[in-house]
Amino acid sequence: MAAKTIVITGASGGIGAALAVQLGAAGHQVALAARREAALNEVASRCVGGAIAVVTDVTRRDDVERLRDRALVAFGHVDVWVNNAGQGITRPVLDLKDDEFDAIMAVNVKSALYGMQAIAPHFIQRGRGHIINVSSLLSRVPFATFRSAYNAAKAALNALTANARVDLAAKYPDIHVSLVIPGLVATEFQKNAIGGTPQLRVGTAPGIQTADEVGTAIGALIAFPRAEIYTNPQHAPIVLKYFTDVGAFERENPSAR
Ligand code: NDP
Repeated sequence: MAAKTIVITGASGGIGAALAVQLGAAGHQVALAARREAALNEVASRCVGGAIAVVTDVTRRDDVERLRDRALVAFGHVDVWVNNAGQGITRPVLDLKDDEFDAIMAVNVKSALYGMQAIAPHFIQRGRGHIINVSSLLSRVPFATFRSAYNAAKAALNALTANARVDLAAKYPDIHVSLVIPGLVATEFQKNAIGGTPQLRVGTAPGIQTADEVGTAIGALIAFPRAEIYTNPQHAPIVLKYFTDVGAFERENPSAR
């Protein structure tokens, strides 16, 4: 794949950092965004293709637009924009507070909306580009109901992604909009969730992936754009089974009840 310029949000750790380092090793230039400056700079120092670090709070539209501007000044253009930043929560639906719900929607949905709206005019002007939004298996199957607002936020992200893809594809066939659907990934995500995550809830989860494995899947998506990918191929049949008979699936799978 020819060298590309790629913006990645949530690049100070976890999946975003793994993706950034892999893309750098493959010769791509990356613009890295997150709030923690020292961690962001450390990741940038490992991106051998060239990197800029832009301290960004993705819940602020101004910050996201500044990230786009910094990337354009540094690289001249952007080929790919990855909306990866996100945060979980441990709170059942009936216990959710307004401020928690709003915070989870801001970091998981509005962040990606800001990203898509910031970069789309540049892609339209060039007639090409690729937006990648990182969702979750929990947006499709209620395997972890204690994530509540997070699962709802990722479901909203799925809808925004599909609608943006259809709108852009109608006029610009070389602008791609993709959804990435990981299952459980071994990162600090569980610890960083609002309310933390009780150990027993994730300790024995099957099919857990590493951040590097998810980074590799996203790298392949950049090389060969598709509408959606499940980073763990075992998950697509599970989702299909869920939507074929939601009631039966939830009765047969206590974790989805
Ligand atoms: P981590 O908690 O390890 O990393 C989250 C990243 O998002 C960090 O770089 C963090 O940086 C950044 N971030 C959080 N809030 C903000 C904010 N307001 N502004 C800017 N950056 C922010 O999680 P993962 O790497 O695992 O998660 C990456 C994506 O993958 C998320 O969208 C998550 O929902 C999704 N996902 C993760 C799964 C998992 O099991 N780990 C499963 C399915 C999906 P900083 O704190 O420096 O701002």
